[in-house]
Amino acid sequence: MGPQLLRTESPDQTAPKGRILLVGIGPGSVDHMTHRARAAIAEADVVVGYVTYIKLVADLLEGKEVVRKGMTEELDRAVSALAAARQGKTVALISSGDAGVYGMAGPTYEVLFEAGWTPDDAVQVEIIPGASALNACAALVGAPLTHDFCAISLSDLLTPWPVIARRLNAAAAADFVVALYNPKSGRRTRQIVEAQRLFLAHRRADTPVAIVKSAYRRRQNIDFRTLETLCEADIGMLSTVLIGNSNTVLRHGLMVTPRGYANKYDLQDGGGARAGEKAGRSLSTGLDGWLAGVLADHASGVSAADLAQRHRLPLDYILATLAEPSAPDAEEVTQDTE
Ligand code: SAH
Repeated sequence: MGPQLLRTESPDQTAPKGRILLVGIGPGSVDHMTHRARAAIAEADVVVGYVTYIKLVADLLEGKEVVRKGMTEELDRAVSALAAARQGKTVALISSGDAGVYGMAGPTYEVLFEAGWTPDDAVQVEIIPGASALNACAALVGAPLTHDFCAISLSDLLTPWPVIARRLNAAAAADFVVALYNPKSGRRTRQIVEAQRLFLAHRRADTPVAIVKSAYRRRQNIDFRTLETLCEADIGMLSTVLIGNSNTVLRHGLMVTPRGYANKYDLQDGGGARAGEKAGRSLSTGLDGWLAGVLADHASGVSAADLAQRHRLPLDYILATLAEPSAPDAEEVTQDTE
């Protein structure tokens, strides 16, 4: 649609109605780009992105203005996208993976807010989601993210190291599976060593680790290591490091984090529920069962401080749960359909 057509629909009759499309193109192969991502690029008058990503959509670029940019010009890119959109153009900003995961979506909104933009503005913004590196890398190595996980970027270009180190420490202590983005570059080589040091304080040295380089690209490489040997791997700007939790296993060349079914079901003998467990209900050690246990322990003389230590939870939290003992009747709660 051209700006003329759009102008009649605009609440502000005078402003040309441009658009900024933040397009996540997935890990880097055409097959893993969404239909909407390709369509959005086809709709654009101007396409902005790194050379590598622009090459992937070369077939869609005929007749378009193409701006090939380098690495450190994100704010410039957002500013020029806004300028072009203000003239009524549709601008596609291409990010690898998902534009909202360590991508252009954040800086673009920051620039827009700074310029006084609001969602009612004539310039409209659409974010087109794509498979992020963690999705792509996980798919290649097995099923490492099937339980709670988080992403941490080791880049200290815009984030102070103590912030990064605290997050690494907290994630390691809380037993999250972790995807490390931007793990290492030519100049940033020590960050990954520090990350390993923080993790080793909380996790076994033989915790499975996968280093995936250039997922779904020509130079794709997968290296399985342990936490102890992680730093011997060839790690670079195009690598993502996946660190398993305390239950993650490496079997037949596959990194798998159990979902938790073995806590509830007998995986060998026909898959029936274990004694004391019920399909569709919280575990016996789920919230209600746990509360009942904490109350019973407290009634039999275990102090709140001991309970806090036993369950590795804040004392305030234990005190609050003890002060509010009535658990909902489990039988009345509708069955979960997880
Ligand atoms: N927006 C992107 C992330 C950009 S940050 C996304 O959602 O995936 C750049 C980091 O992403 C790299 O340092 C690397 O850690 C990771 N990355 C991006 N593409 C990758 C790929 N194809 N294979 C492995 N890691 C990748």
